[in-house]
Amino acid sequence: MRNSLIKKEKTLAKSIAYNRIKILFLLSIKNIDDLNYSIYLVKQIKKLSTHYKVKLPPEIKNKICKKCNLPLIPGKTTSIRISKEGFILYTCLNCGTKKRIFLNKKKDL
Ligand SMILES: [Zn+2]
Repeated sequence: MRNSLIKKEKTLAKSIAYNRIKILFLLSIKNIDDLNYSIYLVKQIKKLSTHYKVKLPPEIKNKICKKCNLPLIPGKTTSIRISKEGFILYTCLNCGTKKRIFLNKKKDL
């Protein structure tokens, strides 16, 4: 009985953390003019995901700079280039880190 209760609490905590991550990410995009604050919010997102063992959804994970934790917003904090090899190249304008996101995982199709 006890174990099942603990499991239920854990899944509840995970879903709450997941929702918080989504809200924090939206906030960090809204407050992009205040760089330090949006970086702080992204750091909170990473803390939440490691503490509750919640995987970041790809639409959030792909929009965070690995090095400086800045949310990547096209035209503001990142420049986008689409390469012929089939991936999108994001370049962080704050620290210059490049990020590749592949459009198709299957090759030769
Ligand atoms: Zn960066």
